[in-house]
Amino acid sequence: MNIILFGPPGAGKGTQSKYLVNKLNGFQISTGDMLRDEIKKDSMIGKKIINNMNDGKFVKDEIVNELIKNVIFDPLKKNKLIFDGYPRSISQAKNLDLLLTSSNQKVGIVFFLNVNKDTVIKRIEKRKILENRSDDDSNTIVKRYDTYMETTRPVLEFYSKNQNFHEIDGTLEIEEITRKINTFINV
Ligand code: AMP
Repeated sequence: MNIILFGPPGAGKGTQSKYLVNKLNGFQISTGDMLRDEIKKDSMIGKKIINNMNDGKFVKDEIVNELIKNVIFDPLKKNKLIFDGYPRSISQAKNLDLLLTSSNQKVGIVFFLNVNKDTVIKRIEKRKILENRSDDDSNTIVKRYDTYMETTRPVLEFYSKNQNFHEIDGTLEIEEITRKINTFINV
């Protein structure tokens, strides 16, 4: 079963993905992690995206779409994909649909971790201290949240009519969110 974790930066998508990866023997598809890896490797892609990433701006669709394409067509990962941070725009959602259909897969469940702006800002300020991410400074956080509201949140329209769409209050404690997620996963 392929799962999408959807929500603003700091919603807890990464934390819950790691739980699901463990529970379902799945593979976390975090485009943020993949892009940070490219920067660490100082690859051609890394050089192209570093400024956008540091400014909290989106990386171009072509780059992100290409990165996830390889994962989706990996037979080992088929139907075990846990998406964290993708899709982030309507055009990415359409691309994902296309790639999944052509690899004979579909989206199984979408979890929307809903978190308000104040909580996001508080959480990311904490994460900045723990992880020292260059895009976690206070100005960038606000910009990232606004981009989420403008470009990413409309993607919900794409999925929310689906019966496997579940909204969860992302301001709850981690364990409580996990418990709620668990009620929708029958393994
Ligand atoms: P994240 O780790 O998911 O918070 O992503 C960190 C940063 O990576 C974002 O602020 C964007 O600059 C970039 N990024 C991650 N995923 C995507 C995506 N699906 N589309 C465009 N940019 C992305």
